[in-house]
Amino acid sequence: MGRNVNLSLVCHDEIWLLLPWYANQSLLDQERELVEEHLKVCVACRGGLTVQQNLLENMRDSTMIELCEYVQFANLVEKIRYTADAEERLRRPVRDIVQVKTGSV
Ligand SMILES: [Zn+2]
Repeated sequence: MGRNVNLSLVCHDEIWLLLPWYANQSLLDQERELVEEHLKVCVACRGGLTVQQNLLENMRDSTMIELCEYVQFANLVEKIRYTADAEERLRRPVRDIVQVKTGSV
């Protein structure tokens, strides 16, 4: 029995880092079980989990934040795509000019 408690305490740091993902339910089954086992013996992690769950609920209330992030990401993707297109457009004429030059020499 005492051994199990020690094991759970050893990975406290790891479990602590997993708490946000445990709270939003994006952990693998194996990881989730580890967290649940640790929560039984660790008051600190139980407290940490409560904080994470409160944070999540606050975030759910303000869906605007998520929307803004999504829009920013979409803009970034658009920018990258535009830059790539521009480079492609710039590269072609240069290659043509070089070919014309070397052809005439
Ligand atoms: Zn802990």
